Amino acid sequence: MRNIIDMTNDAAVRAADPQFGRDGLNIVVATNHESSLANAERVALAYGRGDAMSLPGMAIAVKDNIATLDMPTTCGSRILSGYVSPYEATAITRLRAQGAVVVAKTNMDEFAMGSSTETSAYGPTRNPVDPARSPGGSSGGSAAAVAAGITEIALGSETGGSVRQPAAFCGVVGVKPTYGRISRFGLVAFGSSLDQIGVFARSVRNAAIATYAMAGGDLNDSTCADVPVPTTPEPVEAYRGRTLDGVTIGIPTEYFPPSLDADVRARCDVAIEVLRGLGAKIVDVSLPHTELAIPVYYIIAPAEASSNLARFDGVRYGPRAADVSDLREMYQATRSRGFGAEVKRRILIGTYVLSHGYYDAYYKKAQSVRALITRDFDAVFASGVDALFTPTTPTPAFKIGAVTDPYEMYMSDIFTVTANLSGIPAISLPIGRVGGLPIGGQIMTRHFDEPRMFHVAAALEAALGGEAHA
Ligand code: GLN
Repeated sequence: MRNIIDMTNDAAVRAADPQFGRDGLNIVVATNHESSLANAERVALAYGRGDAMSLPGMAIAVKDNIATLDMPTTCGSRILSGYVSPYEATAITRLRAQGAVVVAKTNMDEFAMGSSTETSAYGPTRNPVDPARSPGGSSGGSAAAVAAGITEIALGSETGGSVRQPAAFCGVVGVKPTYGRISRFGLVAFGSSLDQIGVFARSVRNAAIATYAMAGGDLNDSTCADVPVPTTPEPVEAYRGRTLDGVTIGIPTEYFPPSLDADVRARCDVAIEVLRGLGAKIVDVSLPHTELAIPVYYIIAPAEASSNLARFDGVRYGPRAADVSDLREMYQATRSRGFGAEVKRRILIGTYVLSHGYYDAYYKKAQSVRALITRDFDAVFASGVDALFTPTTPTPAFKIGAVTDPYEMYMSDIFTVTANLSGIPAISLPIGRVGGLPIGGQIMTRHFDEPRMFHVAAALEAALGGEAHA
């Protein structure tokens, strides 16, 4: 009982420590020290009574776009400065019901638009592995929180790779569950046909436990699927020491282009040999529409964002411009001052592609190509492939300030957006380091086949052992 309280207090204290706050790596943007202490005591009492809980006392950090009751939810944006949600995200309610203790909100790219955590109104987060480098994004604060040991588990969100890419950059595990696996009630909407809550952890097992703890149907989110959730932690435990006999793993050619960073390729080659050594049958496969994924994503995601972000108008949320003479001017001033440059760029692109006269040429066409990308995956899985292995990102973590061209930044997600466009689950796990920088490997499976995804990932993680972090 003491241990739980000590551990939780310790995590909360460390979360509040300026070293991890604005003055250091800029990971944490809000804490709730007092309330987390109260939670810890409640948890300890429940644990003492022997209630069955899978996450008792585990400290959790939460991306700043997931609604919490006792801390602001600002999406890293001036337009939501000081905003406190009147309700809590279902994902958080479920974790807390199972004993987890939410201790901090983490930094992120503004409204989850970015791949570096540099577009945040709070300023950039630094990568704990190398503070000169970006932790990736947009959930960079959550990835860094786990990598720095502030919490064991952190929640992020994914629209195009915002959990897996920062997980790869920071050397931790990152999960993007199947679209509809976890309720999005309380997740601030970016691209509603793509968004999912995801998990960061230091091990595949802990990532699986947290994923399953949040999963399952929710009447507050009609897009959340009421499909059975595997019980934890048994399925994950069962994978320990298990081989991959009878498992067919596809290696998609399009994810290993000639331009791929040599270090990323080398670590992936090692991981593929390890998978083969575990008994998996390795086959080359093709996902021919992969190269269209980024253009398609940058039509669909901004289109949905331009609509979702219309609600931030100074009337219902956040600070309102006061020095104005009429309503129209108030909207203009509030939104011009409240949103940063990248968010404005997305709103402009999205409004353009949805506009009369361009809708068919852009949005409708993009939806058709999206269907082709999904069909690529369907065909590969129908051919008997159980899982796909790819690099998570084309390069290791880049330096803060190094990527200034938006197009180059968008290309960071080339290997991750496909799982969002098609809705399948995907995980990134550390597969080694080069020059001290972590490299991530990605495993993707069929819709709702998280058990197979965790199985392959846990087997690879165990077989790589210290190699994954060396
Ligand atoms: N980097 C991508 C973007 O900027 C994906 C972001 C995300 O997954 N939230 O839109």
